[in-house]
Amino acid sequence: MLHNLVLFGATGSIGTSALNVIRRNPDKFKIIGISAHSNFEKLAAIAREFHVRNIGIGNEKQFRAQYAQKLFPDDAQFFMGTNGNRELSRLPQADSIIMAIPGTEGILPTLDAIESGKTIMLASKEVLVASGKIIIESAKKNNVLLLPIDSEHNAIFQCLRDERKFLKKIILTASGGPFRQYTHEQMAKVTVEQALIHPTWKMGKKITIDSATMANKGFEMIEAKWLFGVQPSEIEVVIHPESIVHSFVEFCDGSILAQLNPHSMEYPIANCLFYPERAHNNPPSINFKKNLSMNFTAPDFSRFPCLKIANDCLKADDHSAAIFLAANDTAVQAFLSKKIRYLDIANVIACTLDQYHPKYENSVDSVLDVISHAQAIAQTEIERRFKM
Ligand code: MG
Repeated sequence: MLHNLVLFGATGSIGTSALNVIRRNPDKFKIIGISAHSNFEKLAAIAREFHVRNIGIGNEKQFRAQYAQKLFPDDAQFFMGTNGNRELSRLPQADSIIMAIPGTEGILPTLDAIESGKTIMLASKEVLVASGKIIIESAKKNNVLLLPIDSEHNAIFQCLRDERKFLKKIILTASGGPFRQYTHEQMAKVTVEQALIHPTWKMGKKITIDSATMANKGFEMIEAKWLFGVQPSEIEVVIHPESIVHSFVEFCDGSILAQLNPHSMEYPIANCLFYPERAHNNPPSINFKKNLSMNFTAPDFSRFPCLKIANDCLKADDHSAAIFLAANDTAVQAFLSKKIRYLDIANVIACTLDQYHPKYENSVDSVLDVISHAQAIAQTEIERRFKM
């Protein structure tokens, strides 16, 4: 029987990799809904190729202004904005959703999909970083499977299997980004162009900057806490510049398992799509006949302040992680538009966390409210620095 999927963020890099896996397996998966923010031409091409009728549009205004409807097949049904995405994620025929919308826009549709009993294949980091407690509680209550697409969490998921009770530690690998050997003085001079070159992965701009500052690894630590129900002291990060091992799991007997595959998101995506089985037609794996060397070093928190901030958020039982996420988002946009310097990203986050201590409430509304407040505080801090 065909497995029916809704693919959120179909035109992004995760969406593209997911489509490659699905294209190889037309007898297994059927896409019944897709969404994108504003790359309408690409979205329309996907709709035609995969015969998808249910189309989610993030930026409705731009869609109307460009008369983009004419790009799509005549029988297309459009779902507009956040409410449209929420409706898409509840489509009764859908078995699973792949959530790959960047930003916090994915939170509500993910919750809707959980409440309507779909399997969640999760790529959007923001969902668990900002609202991990709510998502995990809802997934348990609704007896819904949450499969992590992000390479590190997928690696942990694969290594852990049914041995959760023997888990001692999760060890997340990090490439360390392009500046892993830079001194503080060198980092002070980093340009946008330099920060946008990632040594091993090819990704979107925002996540490439987050990899350079290691804020991305910080988010992944927070996601790991929710996904695997571990304590902050049970999560470690190790720098592994080659990004071949996607993470490790250490068990109580001292055994450590690692998961490896080449640099492509198609592997973790295929792992989620086929779970609990495995794909037979993935691209070739790592070739050990070619020389391969792997290095592992401990991260230096003093040169990567975002990692230190994440570690503090991990221990806090409040909205700190959502504030970290929101302030980082605002600061990275400001860095990309050359309003602030590279090292200011971490400073803006730290200032925002210092200034803002909202009361914790376990609801999505309160999370979204905290995010918009934190963004405003970060923006004020950016303007202040910009004027200096
Ligand atoms: Mg990752």
